[in-house]
Amino acid sequence: MRLVFLGPPGAGKGTQARELAQEWGVPQISTGDMLREAVAAGTPLGRQARGYMDRGALVPDDVIIALIAERFAQPDAKRGFVLDGFPRTIPQAEALGRLLEELGQHLDRVILFDVSEPELLRRLTGRRSCPTCQATYHVTAAPPRREGVCDRCGSALTQREDDREATVRTRLGVFTEQTAPLLDYYRRRGLLTRVGGEGSVESIRANIRRAAGTVPA
Ligand code: AMP
Repeated sequence: MRLVFLGPPGAGKGTQARELAQEWGVPQISTGDMLREAVAAGTPLGRQARGYMDRGALVPDDVIIALIAERFAQPDAKRGFVLDGFPRTIPQAEALGRLLEELGQHLDRVILFDVSEPELLRRLTGRRSCPTCQATYHVTAAPPRREGVCDRCGSALTQREDDREATVRTRLGVFTEQTAPLLDYYRRRGLLTRVGGEGSVESIRANIRRAAGTVPA
């Protein structure tokens, strides 16, 4: 199982990748999560990436490609993977192709999450999370019992720096300009399958299982 989840920020890639990777017994490889961990730990990678992330820009390709090459070298990635948030540019897609070729592997499918722009804006600007236990909420769609407070552990909820409206608009523009060309790139290779990304989390998940050629466990 070697899949890429492709789609604009807020399309639900992370939510679905987390669950499905676990169901399929492969790692979820999220460059966004890896970068946020590096920022939180204050590593040289985190210090380098932070400025780009906070303003909604992409971290340079060479940095991301090195990060992915290192991740693929870990034993768990031999079983397969769900890539979430990578590749995001044509050079990254080409680097992924070369990396897989060196490993004697290939992608099984690229799943495109299709969500309208107003819905993306609503989801991203309303997203809140718990810095302590990582639970996620939405101010209207999945609010905590007490406003601003985590149901599970009582910590004060926070908003991702890059989920503020001006930055969200930048990120959506970056997707259109730099990531959308990947749709054609993978369509021409016969790998792209579109999945509607609106509706219940469970129904979207069922569509992804179908697109990936797996049946529910
Ligand atoms: P995400 O959580 O996937 O929305 O990623 C958050 C931020 O991390 C993005 O806005 C970028 O600044 C950076 N990032 C994550 N993945 C990549 C990537 N493949 N290429 C460049 N930048 C990335």
